[in-house]
Amino acid sequence: MSSNDDNHIDVVMLPFMAHGHLIPFLALANQIHHHTGFKIAIANTPLNIQYLHQQNSPPWITLLELPFNSSDHGLPPNTEHTEDLTLDQIGRLLVSSVSLKTPFHNLLLDIVQKQGKPPLCIISDFFFGWAVDVANVVNTVNITFSTGGAYGVLAYVSFWLNLPHRKTDGEEFDLPGFPETCKFQVSQLHEFMRKADGNDSWTRFFQTQLSSSLQSFGLLCNTVEEIEPLGLDLLRKYTKFPVWPIGPLLPKQLLSKSPLSATVQRVAKSPGISAEKCVQWLDLHGVDSVLYISFGSQNTVSPSHMMELAIGLEKSMKPFIWVIRPPLGFSLKAEFRSEWLLQGFEDRMTRSNQGLLVKNWAPQLEILSHASTGAFLNHCGWNSTMESLSQGVKIIGWPMAAEQAFNSKMLVEEMGVAVELTRGIQRCISSEEVKEVIEMVMDEEGKGGDMKRKAEKIAEHIRAAVKDEGNEKGSSIKALDDFVSAIKTRK
Ligand code: UDP
Repeated sequence: MSSNDDNHIDVVMLPFMAHGHLIPFLALANQIHHHTGFKIAIANTPLNIQYLHQQNSPPWITLLELPFNSSDHGLPPNTEHTEDLTLDQIGRLLVSSVSLKTPFHNLLLDIVQKQGKPPLCIISDFFFGWAVDVANVVNTVNITFSTGGAYGVLAYVSFWLNLPHRKTDGEEFDLPGFPETCKFQVSQLHEFMRKADGNDSWTRFFQTQLSSSLQSFGLLCNTVEEIEPLGLDLLRKYTKFPVWPIGPLLPKQLLSKSPLSATVQRVAKSPGISAEKCVQWLDLHGVDSVLYISFGSQNTVSPSHMMELAIGLEKSMKPFIWVIRPPLGFSLKAEFRSEWLLQGFEDRMTRSNQGLLVKNWAPQLEILSHASTGAFLNHCGWNSTMESLSQGVKIIGWPMAAEQAFNSKMLVEEMGVAVELTRGIQRCISSEEVKEVIEMVMDEEGKGGDMKRKAEKIAEHIRAAVKDEGNEKGSSIKALDDFVSAIKTRK
């Protein structure tokens, strides 16, 4: 337990500078604090600390600034975050993050001096392997936190650490850490991963940081023991250190099926529609009849993909909510233009109640937890994946970047809760394909019915994992207990 000293810090967290990392770290801080009473500090660059302040972070979290000047690293002024950056700039942001090591070290020395002892642990992002050195110097331990799932993260780590890969034919390759029967495909790699040859700057960054992170004391993972048995088994064998699956990092109400309240810790972005209006619209439709479409916090699709998706949706005649942004080639901040869709599309969808187009940002948790939502067409980002699975909502995958295609492969092959519509932006899709996949997945019988049953089973496992009633503890609660005991005893 934490000391009585109000300024005491038990755990120092260090997330990477992106929403998809800051928010799960904040959720992890909540989870650990509620379980242990630990006082937690989150360290980051000034603008990200400002952003975390805006998330109404609770009083037991101390937010600590690490000085950072993006212009010193060839980035535009005030660039401290991946949002709206080109791929090249994201690469530069990653490389520049190594400059945080010295200020982070000084910050830790300051904490040690003030409280007379080091914090119990540092919890750092996979991309900040240098935190292991800092932990050693100040006599604490570094725990890596994976914001992704076990299978996807292992594939991502193995991809970077084992270049070049053994090709088994033109399109397929093996990844160390996975059984030989498990083949990966070149089309599952984002363009910059396809180009990686072992000597480029991406590879140098990832190889240095990921291999250092593997020297950590252990790994916290936002997943659940029962839903990723293969991924966790392989990850443990590959890393050879303790892996604690403590997920899902979701509001408790979402897991107990109680209505979501405004007090829930959520991403503060102003939605294109209020949660109440979304719920009213969903109330008009039957159980499991609505398809929800969203590609995460920052993705969009090409103009032709957008058009084919719109035509396919209209032809399918299935109700849908679509979080829509300007297509690739236009600023995401631009006003949405109706010409990007079929003529009269939005009007027809609105008048017939077939579709609700939400500009830029939707209240995703309210949508996924509504009984009318039956399936989720998404990019297989891990947060969206866990949010969908926790509600027993089956998935149509359209992976775009990072480890998303590996998540998609696991959702299709291991869990059986998803089908993949397409990958990335290279391949054209036809409206006919879109219509067929939607019809197949939304069907209550056949494959759609089978996917639904499997998704509901996964949701049951997820709810059981967070059970904490007397002696009845779910696997994620036990993993959290194990983690706390390990950092206290360093065994
Ligand atoms: N999100 C949301 N509304 C949107 C789009 C995204 O609330 O319109 C949230 C979503 O609930 C999830 C996060 O943003 O928690 C996206 O995270 P994910 O890991 O799925 O994808 P990323 O944005 O990191 O690619």
